[in-house]
Amino acid sequence: MSTSSIRLNALEMAQKRQKIKVELPSDKISDYFGSQVFGEKAMKAHLSKEAFKAIKAARETGEKIDRELAEQIAAGMRQWAVNKGVTHYTHWFQPLTGTTAEKHDAFFDPISDTESVEKFTGSALVQQEPDASSFPNGGLRNTFEARGYTAWDPSSPVFIVDNKIGKTLCIPTIFVSYTGEALDYKAPLLKSLHALEAAALDICHYFDKNVKKVQATLGIEQEYFLVDEALYNARPDLVITGRTLVGYSAAKGQQLEDHYFGSIPERIHAYMLDFETEALKLGIPLKTRHNEVAPGQFECAPNFEDINLAIDHNQLLMDIMEKIARRHGLKVLFHEKPFAGINGSGKHNNWSMGTDTGVNLLSPGNTPNKNMQFLTFFVNVIKAVHDYPDLLRASIATMENEHRLGANEAPPSIISVFIGSQLTGVLNELESNKAKKGTEGKTESILFPRIPEILLDNTDRNRTSPFAFTGNKFEFRAVGSSANSASPMIVLNTIVANQLRSFQKEVEAGIKKGATKEAAILSVLRGYVKSSKKILFEGNGYGEEWKEEAAKRGLKNITEVPDALKAYVEKDVLKLFEENGVLSGKEVHARYEILVEEYVKKIQIESRVIGDMTNTIIMPSALSYQAKLADAAFKMKELGMKKSTFEVYVKTIEEIAGYVTDLKRLVFEMVEARKRANTEEDTERRAQIYCHEVKPYFQEIRYLADKLERIVENECWQLPKYRELLFIR
Ligand code: ADP
Ligand code: MG
Repeated sequence: MSTSSIRLNALEMAQKRQKIKVELPSDKISDYFGSQVFGEKAMKAHLSKEAFKAIKAARETGEKIDRELAEQIAAGMRQWAVNKGVTHYTHWFQPLTGTTAEKHDAFFDPISDTESVEKFTGSALVQQEPDASSFPNGGLRNTFEARGYTAWDPSSPVFIVDNKIGKTLCIPTIFVSYTGEALDYKAPLLKSLHALEAAALDICHYFDKNVKKVQATLGIEQEYFLVDEALYNARPDLVITGRTLVGYSAAKGQQLEDHYFGSIPERIHAYMLDFETEALKLGIPLKTRHNEVAPGQFECAPNFEDINLAIDHNQLLMDIMEKIARRHGLKVLFHEKPFAGINGSGKHNNWSMGTDTGVNLLSPGNTPNKNMQFLTFFVNVIKAVHDYPDLLRASIATMENEHRLGANEAPPSIISVFIGSQLTGVLNELESNKAKKGTEGKTESILFPRIPEILLDNTDRNRTSPFAFTGNKFEFRAVGSSANSASPMIVLNTIVANQLRSFQKEVEAGIKKGATKEAAILSVLRGYVKSSKKILFEGNGYGEEWKEEAAKRGLKNITEVPDALKAYVEKDVLKLFEENGVLSGKEVHARYEILVEEYVKKIQIESRVIGDMTNTIIMPSALSYQAKLADAAFKMKELGMKKSTFEVYVKTIEEIAGYVTDLKRLVFEMVEARKRANTEEDTERRAQIYCHEVKPYFQEIRYLADKLERIVENECWQLPKYRELLFIR
């Protein structure tokens, strides 16, 4: 085998891989679930009653922990961690880069030149000042004023990360600038949760005075692709951008649908077992795993949790999955669209709210009172989405997700809500308010339509909807697989909180005018059902007809990131965030700036990669094949053979020459477009140029590169092909 072929060498490596044996800590998951978490059990063993109570109160009601108790808690944490062999601790936070960040410090304090003690103080637990001047801050923090600080979030437990090299105690924190502006996802998420939970609690009290707390819940389904590490490394586009910028579709894609829920290949199974075990030790309640629709695509999902924890867990899970993949010679791809022509990956966000009395507020009931409560929350969510579709759209707008939305079984960019035929019937009934025979004069709650019991059956599903009601929760399906779910959740929590507050005001006004509580609620809801109809869509979201229909209804189909992001800085949105105490105008503007900038940078990088690959890999592969053909044709001619015998060589040479010439020109033009874009100082305008003048070249270049891939001899082609990347076993 030729050693000069990167691709063939990679293929050989991939084929030689052995399945890695995974050692489980025990046969029973319950023996090790949460063993690396400073949870209830560990806290009871290592904290005084007082400290334990303080942490519980902070978790449950958001109460502040005083410095002295923080000192005790830190000591307890250190003791627990050191017993487990931990040497370092870190504040663990979620900057706006979308990943997680950490900076390690040792539990060690020198007391003389040869002596030291293990130390971890309350103030080290509570607050840190990482020199984090290079994180995106949208102008909120000057690089010379590098001070931003991280502050402990006691509502998410600390945990130990063991990467087999060392063990580190990780402390979930928020990350804010010295002047107090949020520079991360967690800070505004916590504020949005506070707004939502307080608003929902007030509404709950219309139905049940005993409810003391509402908690918003989230279950995150995570889709991902796996490719062999050697093949991955032979694809600069995958390595640098996370997606394939060229590559023609494998002859066999997903058309046979034989991968979906199919049996999991052994090597992949070992990988899953390995990362699941690590995740379970960290208290991530992973429950399901299966193959997804596309070849090489899989999904895992934990049980739902409190939103803050669910998001920390998802961020941590992605991290674990990446690290463990290495052990198995695999690369995990979280990119929303790593391969053209087959399904992309999403991260379905299953969202609901529950009470401390054990009621899921989006679970339909049968008693009139529970039923009225369900309809109240259900209709208010629909109204919130109806009022802020563009903002929801903005919350999931990234360059990666743009390739996914609206293509290959992914929801379209048009935001709509699916509720199923039965609930559609219920809302119709609610709107027309047909009093059933014999109910006149009885309490108004009977006027609420009954909800059919069969609802909880999952048969009534619409996989094409970006935002679907699925029995007892809403599922935001348009969220991209690599996203930090905090982005869409901040928006969803805030718009629903805001909506519930408006609802409350309207109901109170009705009561003031003399209506019974039930009648007032009914009347406001009826108004909402009437006014938010256009957001409801039960049909096929993939169809072309929906685009036309949506346009008629006045629903937007925003397909490009720079346009989608604009929703963040609309006046009403700034007011929304401000009034609900989630983000200040200054913070929103900074975030907007970061997102637009990030978009520009990503296209710039992709453009460079595709240019380099074309010049240094694709064209040379084609030209070396061309030289081989020319050589053969020349020899045949020398031998005095008839022209017809080597005509096919000449034709192929001409074909290759045509494509290569065009490629060369396109790359040149693309670089020129990039130069033009870079001279534009205004970020928004630069983003538009990148979007409309640079990005279109990707498709054109790809088209020609893929043509070449189809004619160049297999041996000469240097980039691993789709069929090789996708069908790992
Ligand atoms: P599917 O693939 O059919 O959508 P899964 O079972 O894979 O369903 O995922 C459903 C997700 O929804 C799980 O994470 C589950 O825990 C979560 N879920 C269930 N009930 C709730 C709820 N009340 N609030 C939030 N998430 C929920
Ligand atoms: Mg789902």
